[in-house]
Amino acid sequence: MKTTLRQYTVEAVLEGFVYNELEGKGLFGLAGQLVIQPEYQRHYIYGDGKRDVAVIDSLLKGYPLGLIYFNVAKTGGGLEVLDGQQRITSVGRFVTGKFAVKVAGREQVFSSLPKDDQQKILASELLVYECEGTETETKDWFQTVNIAGVPLNRQELLNAIYSGPFITSAKAEYSNSRNANMQKWSSYVKGDPKRQEVLEVALDWVSSSGGVSIDAYLAQHRGDHDIAPLNRYFTSVIDWIVSVFTRPPDKEMRGLDWGRLYESYHSTSYNATEVDEAIDELRADPAVHNAKGIYEYSLGGKTSPQLLDVRLFDDKAKRAGYEQQTQKAKVKGVSNCPLCALGTDNNRARIYRQDEMDADHVTAWSKGGATDLSNLTMLCQTHNRAKGNK
Ligand SMILES: [Zn+2]
Repeated sequence: MKTTLRQYTVEAVLEGFVYNELEGKGLFGLAGQLVIQPEYQRHYIYGDGKRDVAVIDSLLKGYPLGLIYFNVAKTGGGLEVLDGQQRITSVGRFVTGKFAVKVAGREQVFSSLPKDDQQKILASELLVYECEGTETETKDWFQTVNIAGVPLNRQELLNAIYSGPFITSAKAEYSNSRNANMQKWSSYVKGDPKRQEVLEVALDWVSSSGGVSIDAYLAQHRGDHDIAPLNRYFTSVIDWIVSVFTRPPDKEMRGLDWGRLYESYHSTSYNATEVDEAIDELRADPAVHNAKGIYEYSLGGKTSPQLLDVRLFDDKAKRAGYEQQTQKAKVKGVSNCPLCALGTDNNRARIYRQDEMDADHVTAWSKGGATDLSNLTMLCQTHNRAKGNK
């Protein structure tokens, strides 16, 4: 499908605007060249005094109305609105005096607006994509942009803005659910290829590796016919994942920020068997609350336990630990904080309330200590903080 970006003023689009009250549709524009409501479109539904008013408010404030899509008709060279008929019909009805909006607290129809406001509306630029393709392409496209009121997502918009040979080839590779590699990729990449979400990930990885945004990357490569650099980078990341994590992919591996992980860790060497065993162990550990963090934790040499959101002791264990410890301390006449009890200052015999203490792992979790009563000690808050994060 061929798309061409054009700008029209509201005035041009509304030239010869006709609204059919009986059928509730806006019919024509662009001096008869544009069919505003082709048969397959839903009828005008913005005439509710809210959405139609919002369209006019936007124009008066100078906000863009968003992308509009026209379809180039097979015969006669005329145009029909593929997406945007509600917005165009709203403006057309307003300009032809069909409804009023409140401006500075006063109801105004178009003809009662100050001249400069009228001019502002008529001179507003509409950004239009004119699409030319087969009926099937048009229908597919229309389904994407409109049918359920699904708005274009970020990558779909970028595809339209940067359309050209590069996007066409990249879509054939990454937006094609029949691509033989798609199943393998989907173990690590989250998203619907048809909604351009796999393409977005591929572009994100390669553009981030060069320190630029997807926009900038596409602007730079828009005219390229060769997408080999994109493919090479994407394949490098996927191959690297598979070489480090030889296990059958866990569902938590899907959608991780693999591009960033690749950049950070691909020059480190790993023993795949050891990685695999460590992952199994972590996945089985009930203290690990964030299973998605396991992979980066392992890649980083297990130095960042905060990635795992290790679950703290539960209230029941804390209460039991507090009671045991406090009873023993009272018998000995020392503080129920074992570290205060070792000291020489006034806190040496201080009995803390439970809410003045925190639970601590005797053997750090990161060194294999369990998160249960046998490995729990209550410390006063000062000492717990001093022991630091473990
Ligand atoms: Zn203490």
